[in-house]
Amino acid sequence: MAFPEYANIIIDISHEKVDRLFQYRIPKTMLGKVEVGASVDVPFGRGNTRRKGYVIELCEEPDIDASRIKELFGLSEGMESAEDISIRLAAWMKRYYGSTMIAALKTVIPVCKKQNRQVHKFVSMRLAGDEATAAYHESIRKKQKARERILKELLDNEGERLPYELITSKLSVTAQTLKSMENAGIIRIEQEEYFRNPVAATTGRYSDKVLSPEQQNIVDTVSRDFDAGKRDTYLIHGITGSGKTEVYIALIDEMIKRGRQAIVLIPEIALTYQTLMRFYRHFGERVSVMNSSLSPGEKYDQMERAKSGDIDIIIGPRSALFTPFPNTGIIIIDEEHESTYKSENSPRYHARETAIELARLVPGGAAVVLGSATPSLEAYYRAQRGEYHLFELNRRLTGGTLPTVETADLRQELKSGNRSIFSRRLQELMEDRLGKGEQAMLFINRRGLAGFISCRSCGHVFKCPHCDVSLSEHRGGRLICHYCGHEERRPSLCPECGSKYVSSFRAGTEQIEDEVRKMWPAARVIRMDADTTRTKGSYDRILSAFANKEADVLVGTQMIVKGHDFPDVTLVGILAADMSLYASDFHASERTFQLLTQAAGRAGRGDKPGNVVIQSYQPEHYSIQAAVRQDYKGFYEEEIAYRDLLRYPPISHMMCVQIQSRTEEDGMEYGNRLRAVMEQQRVREAVFIGPALAPIARINDIFRLAIYVKLDDYDMLVRLKDICEKYIKQLEDMGKMRGVTVQFDFDPMRG
Ligand code: ADP
Ligand code: ZN
Ligand code: ZN
Repeated sequence: MAFPEYANIIIDISHEKVDRLFQYRIPKTMLGKVEVGASVDVPFGRGNTRRKGYVIELCEEPDIDASRIKELFGLSEGMESAEDISIRLAAWMKRYYGSTMIAALKTVIPVCKKQNRQVHKFVSMRLAGDEATAAYHESIRKKQKARERILKELLDNEGERLPYELITSKLSVTAQTLKSMENAGIIRIEQEEYFRNPVAATTGRYSDKVLSPEQQNIVDTVSRDFDAGKRDTYLIHGITGSGKTEVYIALIDEMIKRGRQAIVLIPEIALTYQTLMRFYRHFGERVSVMNSSLSPGEKYDQMERAKSGDIDIIIGPRSALFTPFPNTGIIIIDEEHESTYKSENSPRYHARETAIELARLVPGGAAVVLGSATPSLEAYYRAQRGEYHLFELNRRLTGGTLPTVETADLRQELKSGNRSIFSRRLQELMEDRLGKGEQAMLFINRRGLAGFISCRSCGHVFKCPHCDVSLSEHRGGRLICHYCGHEERRPSLCPECGSKYVSSFRAGTEQIEDEVRKMWPAARVIRMDADTTRTKGSYDRILSAFANKEADVLVGTQMIVKGHDFPDVTLVGILAADMSLYASDFHASERTFQLLTQAAGRAGRGDKPGNVVIQSYQPEHYSIQAAVRQDYKGFYEEEIAYRDLLRYPPISHMMCVQIQSRTEEDGMEYGNRLRAVMEQQRVREAVFIGPALAPIARINDIFRLAIYVKLDDYDMLVRLKDICEKYIKQLEDMGKMRGVTVQFDFDPMRG
């Protein structure tokens, strides 16, 4: 086999410049030894100065006249830098998930936008004792909600300095409010320079918990393995409140003692004020938080702080994984089962697998700790097979009884003449709780499926002309497409049959809100869904309003079931548990079980016992039954048997080849060709499905088709992907793609 003789090399590693490649010739003696991702020394510029570069692509043919191409010196030697690791991780992602090297690099390298150094600001109480309390009561009297929130927080944490960014982002207090409170002499805003000593940030008020024997066992095992040079992946399966976060904190302590740094991934939606404060209290300004409200400049700045050793811990969503610490010792992924850990853009990496690869690449290696109350089938399966070390935490440490969970059969409700969206049992409990002044949460699975409009006479469903999904009805008779935003007026007559029985089919969040107001006019209701959380900070604002008991009922989508603790919620109603069961995706049962378990976990967090009512047309389904029993293991056994039967991940692997085209015919033609190319490889046991139109066949007038390939052997799937890529490259070079684009998705999480 002939090895490629040319290498495209990047010299300046910064996000903006990754597209600038230089081509070099590989010396004869090194053919086959220079790989994508390798660091090499090259002669650069007029003076041919020696520079370090990274190989991004290998090419068989030169792009320009071969005589003008310089030869590279060789592989560069010496210590591995954080940069080398990023590049190697990108090369792994490119290969493992199928993407261009450039796309992979852009994922792992932060956007470079230098900005003025960020100063750390803190807010503290300036008024003393009684005066402070008086100011708090005044804010309540004057209904100054933001002031009330911050003053309450400062009073609850007497003598403490609270991080400024956390107050503006998580408590939704504006900079203006803070400024005016500062001017009025109520609070003090300080900057980091005054407090170089890291200890000053922590107040000592935080008393470390004595870990339970189960918790301590985890910390000891991981530390012992670490000291013995063993790097493993650990899965902590523990119900909410069983002390996982406390274990993470103790583990990070251990790593810091060993001069290592920690990356903590928490889904954005669960990055709540309370959780973040626990880390700040313990680690002070050695910790930094990354979230989507930061500007690219601020993110870059954090990366720089990590690189230079200013911080030891980063907490953030998926992308925090790419924090360039000099010496990462542990990577923690909380709520490991969340689908947000899988990237929706190419490379479609999963944070769990990528973390494990990164842990392998970093100098000295790192431990990976996964935590969840409802582990993904994938992680639990690996743990069962001994690939991950499994720990179980079975007790709630804060006391609090587990809620009583029951189902309401909607078929029976209809039979007995109840046409309301609330079952009789749920109505009864609502009356009871509202009467007692306790809070309730009403949860509906999915917005897209709810609230669609159809004709009761002929069954015609109103769909978006561009996206092939049903339109949802909003107030004022507007029909809206939630993919592309297309909007039209709701007609009064059916365009198909002329009937006037055109109505929304099932309740969405707005209808539930209306219904609650109708049935319980005295109840204060707030709604949380994609519409009410569009503006910055609105998500946190709604949650803190509900936590402060500014409302009795919170109505919402899956957003409301994650993260937050509401001690006064004693009733959770799940209005249509089936919606997610009907999704056309092999994860449907798993998602349903996770959502129901999380939702149920919202009830009875305080000392009052809670009730959960799961309404369903199919209450006998095993994912619903297992959620009622709060029986993860039982669910796992049923579900893994189903995956095994149909050869779905995690038993087997699945690659989705996604094709996008301007016409359906083009997409179908290319799909068939790609399938033929893969089939020619005669890989035994590979199962091909499609090409077929995706569940959402058209978005913005682009058609979407998919081919699925199921195969036990992941590496072989990667080879099939490589073959497709090569074939596509050939067609591209001949200018024959007709605007068709192809992406790969391994072990897809959605759709
Ligand atoms: P999880 O992350 O599993 O939801 P947390 O770590 O948040 O659990 O713990 C739940 C609650 O129990 C928290 O209020 C925490 O402070 C408390 N807690 C955790 N570990 C202990 C312990 N060893 N002793 C006493 N309280 C604990
Ligand atoms: Zn009709
Ligand atoms: Zn649309």
